[in-house]
Amino acid sequence: MDFKHSKVAIVGVGNVGATTAYSIITQGLCAEVVLIDVNKEKAYAEAMDMQQSIHFLNRNIKVTAGDYADCKDADIVIITASAPMPKESNDRLKMLAPSINIMTSIVNSVMASGFDGIFLIVSNPVDIMTYYVRKLSGLPAHRVIGSGTTVDSARLSCALGSMYDLDSKSVQAFVIGEHGDSEMVAWSSATIGGKMVEDVLVDNADRTKDVTKEVLLSKTIQAGWEIFNRKGNTCYGIAAATTAIAKSILFNENRIYPVTVELNGEYGIDHAFLSVPTIIDATGAKEIVEIKLTAEELAALQKSAALLQAFYPQLDS
Ligand code: NAD
Repeated sequence: MDFKHSKVAIVGVGNVGATTAYSIITQGLCAEVVLIDVNKEKAYAEAMDMQQSIHFLNRNIKVTAGDYADCKDADIVIITASAPMPKESNDRLKMLAPSINIMTSIVNSVMASGFDGIFLIVSNPVDIMTYYVRKLSGLPAHRVIGSGTTVDSARLSCALGSMYDLDSKSVQAFVIGEHGDSEMVAWSSATIGGKMVEDVLVDNADRTKDVTKEVLLSKTIQAGWEIFNRKGNTCYGIAAATTAIAKSILFNENRIYPVTVELNGEYGIDHAFLSVPTIIDATGAKEIVEIKLTAEELAALQKSAALLQAFYPQLDS
């Protein structure tokens, strides 16, 4: 990847797409950002607005509204397009039906451009959509990644950090599995400053109070809805998470994030797309990290995989 000519295309310039684009731009992560949306006026306006902000930023990034032909030489295509989310729904899996048609037209158009980079999927249900994009695109598995539980892991780390008045970056805790109700925390590997989170909870009972592991998981699962139900979308956390994953690709960082990837035997799971810690470099999902789980945790992860796999026949017909 050439830092001087690096290019990111974002398909879907709604709340998440526009916020992600702006996050990438303010961090100066690439030379060019192209915004693509079925609503061309919106893409045009967002691109123009962002281009004018460049005057005050560190890097002279070219920001344009474009079309699928512009994906040809993109290093990353980030997909955040979706039909409007029904306001009363608190289940990402209910978004599957409308998402299938949208994703089919987008991925076929991107591939028709001659795109040969890395897909980063954010649209929900993200794990199933990542499976679908891999299937439609025919790209190697390591070049189709979903944002997965990166944002959930950040939410958990922030909750723990705030409980103990710590920078959340001192918390090492992975939420893994589905980005949704069946996700779980790999507590047996979760640490704060090298100390097991399970011990921190007990040893700091005065601050932990009645916040159990179960409460923390439930709050993590509900965190997105807590925001969505109040303002109708979530954008900053997911945009920051997506930007971090894109940065690890663009800067060949080799950072580990829990992203949606294809598992083929890892964790005793075959041919399923769900989040596990993965090393991300310029080639995409370079290597899946198999952390040691307890038998109970492994069973929960496998159950989450089976839940997602049950949707694949709908996408295979
Ligand atoms: P939004 O409604 O604000 O934006 C969606 C955009 O997609 C709109 O601008 C729309 O015009 C565009 N679009 C629709 N069909 C299209 C098509 N065929 N081609 C190109 N563009 C098209 O929604 P949002 O709040 O930005 O959310 C976007 C998606 O991100 C949703 O699926 C949402 O559930 C998901 N999301 C995922 C996470 C995560 O953690 N993975 C977090 C938040 C949101």
